[in-house]
Amino acid sequence: SDCFAKNGLDCRNYGLWDGIGEAKVLFGELLGIPPEQLVLGGNSSLNMMYDTVSRAYNFGFFNSPRPWGKEPIVKFLCPSPGYDRHFAICQLFGMDMITIPMTPTGPDMDAVEYYVENDKAVKGIWCVPKYSNPQGITYSDETVRRFANLKPAAPDFRIFWDNAYAVHDLYDEKDELLNIFDACSEVSNPDIVIAFSSTSKISFPGSGVAIMAASPRNLE
Ligand code: PLP
Repeated sequence: SDCFAKNGLDCRNYGLWDGIGEAKVLFGELLGIPPEQLVLGGNSSLNMMYDTVSRAYNFGFFNSPRPWGKEPIVKFLCPSPGYDRHFAICQLFGMDMITIPMTPTGPDMDAVEYYVENDKAVKGIWCVPKYSNPQGITYSDETVRRFANLKPAAPDFRIFWDNAYAVHDLYDEKDELLNIFDACSEVSNPDIVIAFSSTSKISFPGSGVAIMAASPRNLE
């Protein structure tokens, strides 16, 4: 019968639209992100990614000149090989998808910088920064720093940081991924990244908890 969160909110109600505080603290610790920068979702982080793209198309981000859907063309960078369902979202919205080759340290950052910094139609990039399928590549510190340092031609360019395998180490020797939020704060570029994660590969796919993280301005 105790259904109340620490702050007194009744967890049986719809009022907790951004997630139960205690759960945010748990995932904040796991992902190394302040809990107030998290929004917890339902079962699927892919749903939250879709919703974020859909909102960008309908409403734009806080610093969008206009909603993406009113742009003559929207281009998205797609590191390949990558996750087919990311690409399916791009296809559904009719985006122009630009293939970025993967290297052992992450996406080819010369190509990423070239497109992002010179073409204002380039609005985003999909990233699976840790154990990216199928090669299991984790982005190097330098790659993460170069992402944080991007100076996009489009003010509302966003990195879609799908950290689906954040704590999914199979062996004692773990890959360490630099925290992109820390890297972005260091260079005063906090709004460039939206991160996603979920417990689908911790508990059960399709019956876990999804997590989205972003700067205060993006969340607002
Ligand atoms: N991102 C990647 C890289 C995945 O492999 C998967 C699932 O296969 C997902 C996201 C989907 O996660 P969720 O179950 O939270 O929607």
